Amino acid sequence: MTVVTRFAPSPTGELHLGHAYSARIAWRRAREAGGRFLLRIEDIDIRRCRREFDAAIREDLHWLGLDWDGEVRRQSEHFPDYGKALDVVDARGLIYPCFCTRADIAAATDAPQASLQGPDGPLYPGTCRHLPAVERRERLAAGEEHCLRLDAARAASEAGPYDFFDEMHGKIEGQPLLFGDVVLARKDTPTSYHLAVTVDDHLQGVTLVTRGEDLLPSTHVHGLLQRLLGYETPRYAHHKLMTDAEGRRFAKRDKSLTLRSLRDAGKTPAEVFALLPSPLPSSGEVAR
Ligand code: GLU
Repeated sequence: MTVVTRFAPSPTGELHLGHAYSARIAWRRAREAGGRFLLRIEDIDIRRCRREFDAAIREDLHWLGLDWDGEVRRQSEHFPDYGKALDVVDARGLIYPCFCTRADIAAATDAPQASLQGPDGPLYPGTCRHLPAVERRERLAAGEEHCLRLDAARAASEAGPYDFFDEMHGKIEGQPLLFGDVVLARKDTPTSYHLAVTVDDHLQGVTLVTRGEDLLPSTHVHGLLQRLLGYETPRYAHHKLMTDAEGRRFAKRDKSLTLRSLRDAGKTPAEVFALLPSPLPSSGEVAR
């Protein structure tokens, strides 16, 4: 089977050393297997993403010599694909509209009985899951703003048990309820990170998802969606995150370690690669 990896940055800022690390892992895993390395621009967040960062990402990768195969997929050009996947889940009765504002959710999750915590904070308390069908219809008909959420408990029972394999952590049992009723289509954009990434990895034939271990919890949701949508589950390699001298994660706001600033300071790509942790995780270091 051809190994297909991808690097999937969001164009909300310039790439930094942490991105170079992640991109290089994906690139190398593809190249050492004679496979394909894809570049995907994750720009569903139309308000925060900017075209100039998209161009800068391509230029930085090009400068580093991390060449990608085929066309770059820009998520904002593929909303109909996410819509089709949403329809599949909807047809199974596993989605509901949620009209709650952030303030509504904060108020509901402040209550002592609603203390279920997820990786990103309190889980959605399920308020709109319980709306009577008539009220739901009326509010939709009135054009009230809403997002679409997965009914995670029902989805979990439809999907049954599932697992995924991570090269660093081994076999992991899927936890379908980890993020609760996740948003599959946001109020401001007709998809969400979880849905778009799952659909794209499938449509692009990605066989090995390499990304930072901060995204490992999300894979529980992606595994669930893969089951519901009838997709294959790829292999995963969630790598350690690079940190700065103080042990903090790089963030796009840290300007000093952007690839652009390193390059402007006269560093060569080889000198940038020398700053990355070594050795890079490779297929030889698979957890058994
Ligand atoms: N777009 C995500 C990011 O910029 C990465 C998504 C992924 O690799 O699944 O962090």
